[in-house]
Amino acid sequence: MDQQSEATNIKWHHHHITKNERATQKRQRPCILWFTGLSGSGKSTIAGALEQKLFELGHHTYLLDGDNVRHGLNKDLGFSDSDRVENIRRIGEMSKLFADAGLIVLSAFISPFRSDRRMVRDLVEDGEFVEIHMSTPLSVCEQRDPKGLYKKARQGEIKNFTGIDSVYEAPESPEITLNTAECDVEACANTVIAYLKQQNIIRD
Ligand code: ADP
Repeated sequence: MDQQSEATNIKWHHHHITKNERATQKRQRPCILWFTGLSGSGKSTIAGALEQKLFELGHHTYLLDGDNVRHGLNKDLGFSDSDRVENIRRIGEMSKLFADAGLIVLSAFISPFRSDRRMVRDLVEDGEFVEIHMSTPLSVCEQRDPKGLYKKARQGEIKNFTGIDSVYEAPESPEITLNTAECDVEACANTVIAYLKQQNIIRD
């Protein structure tokens, strides 16, 4: 494996237990369910409901959530374009490690740039990156405004807010599209479960 690094004299160490062995023990195939969309589009809500369903089905998951990661690993990063890129790069690498542990990873981040999502897709094997576009319209997200952030952004109190004064690049061919303005939480989560079964990531 070609791992680029700033450091010299380091190389990738192949350990005895493989990703597939770890995943098989959990009766699943590892993957990254990558939720992308505007603030308030329902990423956290749907990822949380889906994780609960997967847990009840006996699967081993881990949910990575935007705000939570910014409390710890990425607390040195802000919302400039370059910090957003680094934010997603670290999350991508972390998601890859969790997938390597055999888990079904649910990553809920606005991740507004196509090139960043492509970077994460390219980190893992074919079929392991499942892009879930939350296509809920901006008007609905802004009306919900669960954290009051759109209001602040409109008043100029928050700069670089996605959808207001920072761009959101919608996915061109996501594996799944969910519009939570038209689909309730249960139905959205079930759509993803059906996809996972169809792809043999989980079994009936
Ligand atoms: P994001 O993680 O994308 O910022 P959140 O999940 O935090 O979005 O917020 C979505 C908001 O929309 C929540 O307040 C949620 O209760 C509300 N909501 C209303 N209908 C739905 C739905 N069908 N799916 C998801 N969220 C919904």
